[in-house]
Amino acid sequence: SAKVDEKSRFHTIIRQTEKPVGDADKHEFQAETRMLLDIVARSLYSENEVFVRELISNASDALEKFRYSVHTAGENEKDFAQTDRPLEIHIATEKQSMQLTIQDTGIGMTRDELINNLGMIARSGSKKFLEQVKEAGGGTENSSNIIGQFGVGFYSAFMVADKVEVFTRSSKVGSQGLRWASDGSGSYEIQEADGVAYGTKIVIHLKPECREYADEDRIRAVIKKYSNFVGSPIFLNGQRA
Ligand code: ADP
Ligand code: MG
Repeated sequence: SAKVDEKSRFHTIIRQTEKPVGDADKHEFQAETRMLLDIVARSLYSENEVFVRELISNASDALEKFRYSVHTAGENEKDFAQTDRPLEIHIATEKQSMQLTIQDTGIGMTRDELINNLGMIARSGSKKFLEQVKEAGGGTENSSNIIGQFGVGFYSAFMVADKVEVFTRSSKVGSQGLRWASDGSGSYEIQEADGVAYGTKIVIHLKPECREYADEDRIRAVIKKYSNFVGSPIFLNGQRA
């Protein structure tokens, strides 16, 4: 039945095991990013559940980018791998290991894109955020309110994570799988990896005090609250959320 198919597709997509190969390159975060991460990691923002919305919204953007790129590629469509793959968002909770995984089958990232998109602050929202924090005097409480106002995109994962891993593979034919990892302090590392699916998988290693986000019911409620208008199907532990 369709239900069984969904479950097995979930299994092949999210249970895929990635194997880092070769040496990891260490990179320093750009100074502004470090500042932002510092604030985010120390944040006492009570609605830290919004990190789920941010990561789903990035996954949804990545799927849109893939759809659009293939659609407008014309005769270059052959440059894209697996153009007939299901375009979906898969989320998995692992209570035992206190992990939350959010995976999309979208555009993915190259090494340069990882460095430019996750190592630096490009979004204007984050720049405004930092300005506001400076104006407010940088106190933790003020900063937390400002996080709520502006949103901090990908970096919001560090409100709840003591480590974030990103496995990604750009959708262009021949792209190498990559692993990006950081504990949100000064640096991150990038390493090649085998067994990475096209698209992006984000593994959140939760802080002990945030273990609630490894609970399926809790995540289902957060998805319901924020992700009504996501254009691609979302699966939670193999079932439509
Ligand atoms: P924004 O979404 O506003 O651009 P984010 O901090 O949320 O800012 O994300 C930064 C960038 O990282 C995105 O613009 C995108 O280029 C890249 N990115 C984040 N998540 C993904 C993903 N799941 N797939 C591909 N690229 C991503
Ligand atoms: Mg975003």
